[in-house]
Amino acid sequence: MRLLCGVVAALVLLASAPTVLARAVWTTNSVGVYDYTSAAWRPVVAATVEEINAILPAKAPSLFYRVIGETPCDQIDPQLHRDGIVVCTTPALASADELGLTEFFVERGQISRVRITLPEATNPGLRDNVVCHEFMHAATGIEDNYGARPDTSCVWGDLSAPGSFDAQYARKLYKDNDTSSGGKKHGGKRHGGKKHGGRHGR
Ligand SMILES: [Zn+2]
Repeated sequence: MRLLCGVVAALVLLASAPTVLARAVWTTNSVGVYDYTSAAWRPVVAATVEEINAILPAKAPSLFYRVIGETPCDQIDPQLHRDGIVVCTTPALASADELGLTEFFVERGQISRVRITLPEATNPGLRDNVVCHEFMHAATGIEDNYGARPDTSCVWGDLSAPGSFDAQYARKLYKDNDTSSGGKKHGGKRHGGKKHGGRHGR
């Protein structure tokens, strides 16, 4: 199976190397998931949110799932849901090979919001894997690593649900970034979202 995914980080205030993305975490206790997808994707998104919550450790935020109603990505204001994850669909992504796109907005190493864009044309058999893959990006800031392919992962491997690799990654990430001290959120002014990062293939 060929799975391509775009990950784009818009670093606010401190534009720096893409490696920053790997250290960016959510610091809020709960993160809303705002589902604007079509009926074809909605059950997959809802199930994936439950699965991701199940592997997130106590120090990580919980995801709260809300159905908003079908609205294409290009009709959703990017400023909406600043502390959450917006999931929406588009007729197609830039490359027909690309099955999902996750855009991060990061401030001072903290994820402030995420948008997951899913193409309508995706093969139904791949939807579980694609949504799990994108949600691992969204929940942990993990980058793509198409060469690794552990068979216990939906983000670096081909699983259709989170595996032990994914659980371990989340546990380690949020252990190293203890949020109990309460990080500052949304301080300062924003720059115009310089984009970098990019698309990787395998
Ligand atoms: Zn990806």
